[in-house]
Amino acid sequence: MKLTETQRHKQNECPKCLDAMDAYTGRLGTKPRPLDWSVCLNCGEILRFDEQLDLRLILDEEWEQVHPENKETLLALQRKIRARGLLRPVHPQQ
Ligand SMILES: [Zn+2]
Repeated sequence: MKLTETQRHKQNECPKCLDAMDAYTGRLGTKPRPLDWSVCLNCGEILRFDEQLDLRLILDEEWEQVHPENKETLLALQRKIRARGLLRPVHPQQ
């Protein structure tokens, strides 16, 4: 049974590697909401949607409050992405 789906989302970029992000994968029938979590598929950075549904870096105090099971899920995904390596080079920071 299919539990997730990938949908187009407004043009965005990862605030860490500046890779373009215009799709997301989430639970079937859901859309990103403010404060939802995300992981960049290019660099593995753990991110959050802001009120405008743009992606931003997370704050240390937010991370401390994440439930341990959810933390492990995000970190496992990050490890997989980082073990695979970058899909596209990290853009130089301006
Ligand atoms: Zn990234």
